[in-house]
Amino acid sequence: MLTRFAAIGATPGGGVTRLCASPEDGRARDLFRETAGVAGAGVRTDAAGNQFARFPLTGDSCAPLVMMGSHLDSQSRAGRFDGTLGVATALRVGAALMRARAAGARFNADFVAVNWTNEEGARFRPSLLGSGVYSGAFTADYALSRRDDNDISLGEALAGIGYLGSAAPPPLPACYLELHVEQGSRLEEAGASIGVVGRNWGAIKIDARFLGEQAHTGPTLMERRRDALLGASYAIAGLREVAARWPGRVHSSVARIRVEPNSANVVPALVTIAVEIRAGDNALLREAGEAAEAVLAQAAARANVTHDIATRTEREVRALPDAPAALVRRCADEAGLRRLDMDTVAGHDALSLLGLCPVGLVFVPSIGGITHNEAEDTAPEDLAAGLTLCTMAAARLCRAGGAPEAALDQED
Ligand SMILES: [Zn+2]
Repeated sequence: MLTRFAAIGATPGGGVTRLCASPEDGRARDLFRETAGVAGAGVRTDAAGNQFARFPLTGDSCAPLVMMGSHLDSQSRAGRFDGTLGVATALRVGAALMRARAAGARFNADFVAVNWTNEEGARFRPSLLGSGVYSGAFTADYALSRRDDNDISLGEALAGIGYLGSAAPPPLPACYLELHVEQGSRLEEAGASIGVVGRNWGAIKIDARFLGEQAHTGPTLMERRRDALLGASYAIAGLREVAARWPGRVHSSVARIRVEPNSANVVPALVTIAVEIRAGDNALLREAGEAAEAVLAQAAARANVTHDIATRTEREVRALPDAPAALVRRCADEAGLRRLDMDTVAGHDALSLLGLCPVGLVFVPSIGGITHNEAEDTAPEDLAAGLTLCTMAAARLCRAGGAPEAALDQED
């Protein structure tokens, strides 16, 4: 399953480029639909392009749901398991549950495998867009009107690949589970194969604009120049120092820049940078965010330009609920899998659902912590560990009617 997905948008370096709503994403969506259909699921696409495959385990269309999934879109030249592992595993779990049902097992919840649209935020921003529409954080209109760098909207792009859906999404599940690669090296260092996520780091994301004055790069006197790119450059260097103030506790980055008019002979008039500040503590996140905004102001003043904040979003540090994590720990222990409680620093679709329903987020190791990189990899035995664990947890949840507290009492 993973090999088949990895072939779609495969890059020479062993990774994938499968930007949201690209033709490659369309082919991956086709594979999702076909695979789920063969296993007996009914597949529908909602207005945000999210794909839901419902495996009818109960025969009752009003039965509670256990939902599991992640995303099939990727960054450019990214790893083949990021997101795809969670979706492929959910499809395999759904098929396994259907086989168990055919063999006589009784379930009290249906199982839904989901592929969320635009988790990555690579082509369309913000990230977590499809799961954000499902959770009510964004309207579908907002999501579909997001535009890429070529001014193509998400709605146009989804229509172009045949995945601008109109189906109502399923109701909130009784429990949502997501399996993802760790994208760090803590599991590897601990010799564990399963990460049980208990908390997410917070993030402040800012699109900052530096506004200078367009001029000739030759004759314009140096003291007269108002160079927006110079202001952005001071900011980029200064923001790195923000993280350095709290070593290991704050991460900062500027990873995207837009220069206008972007000609070698024109002093830049407008530069937009995408700033991220992340921290594992809300007070610290706020303090680092204020420090970052001070850096932006100082950088603009130093370059004799002005600046403003075009967009600013904040994701708080939050705890994931206890019951799904307890179920994951129980299943890992019974399967003899070494586990580690940990935070997630990266955002995941599971966080969109946090607070709306019980959510469990499970990691398997990333070799060397390499991520958002073609060389991203996970050992086959760890991929298998993730599948074993998710199959156990999902089966118990579906037998228990979806509630993780009740699933804790279940045995295989
Ligand atoms: Zn991901």
